[in-house]
Amino acid sequence: MNTPRANTGFGMTSQRTRTRMIERLREQGIVDEEVLAAIAAVPRHVFVEEALASRAYEDTALPLGYSQTISQPYVVARMIEALRAGRELGRTLEIGAGCGYQAAVLAQLTQEVYAVERIAPLLDRAKLNLRAIKELKVRLKHADGQLGLPEAAPFDSIIVAAAAARVPRALLQQLAPHGRLILPLGVSAQQLALIELRPEGFVETRLDAVRFVPLLSGVE
Ligand code: SAH
Repeated sequence: MNTPRANTGFGMTSQRTRTRMIERLREQGIVDEEVLAAIAAVPRHVFVEEALASRAYEDTALPLGYSQTISQPYVVARMIEALRAGRELGRTLEIGAGCGYQAAVLAQLTQEVYAVERIAPLLDRAKLNLRAIKELKVRLKHADGQLGLPEAAPFDSIIVAAAAARVPRALLQQLAPHGRLILPLGVSAQQLALIELRPEGFVETRLDAVRFVPLLSGVE
């Protein structure tokens, strides 16, 4: 029973619903064409539970199990657009791979993607999903992402998919010069923070109010 498998059926998900999702992202203010193309290239229905596949192209977070959610397309687009700010992502680390959706989007934009997840069965799902869409360059690791990924550091881009009360020090330490980190900060009220390592030090910019699951310690 319950053998995990990727949902590769195309049933309810026509090209039209995907095109509509991209139009909606434009209406919401996403302007980076490369980000829009990356989102258009990833079949989101593969990453959600079969029962929810017909809703895969709605702009909502959807349940993943284990009290986690697959991120809302707008938030994925907004964060990656802010992280890029028109330049290449370079060597990229994602904390909180979940089902692998955002990692797949990142993989459309850069050759080097590392993604860390603390819940083992979710990591297995991410592996399966990425394999199902033939996205083999994402390197996945079962680990506590609050510690970053020292063996692959430094990173030009770091994106965190769970909200931290404060910026994990290890992530700052693993940024390359001119590297950028984007993460939701806060507990009940959360806001996106973009942090860049400039020659004069770290520079932080605050962006949209958001709602993410919490960044937790340890692995399970
Ligand atoms: N990126 C996913 C969103 C997953 S939700 C997507 O594309 O849909 C956030 C994920 O962060 C959850 O899977 C949760 O288990 C994970 N997470 C929370 N704290 C973490 C930590 N310290 N290290 C690694 N992953 C963490």
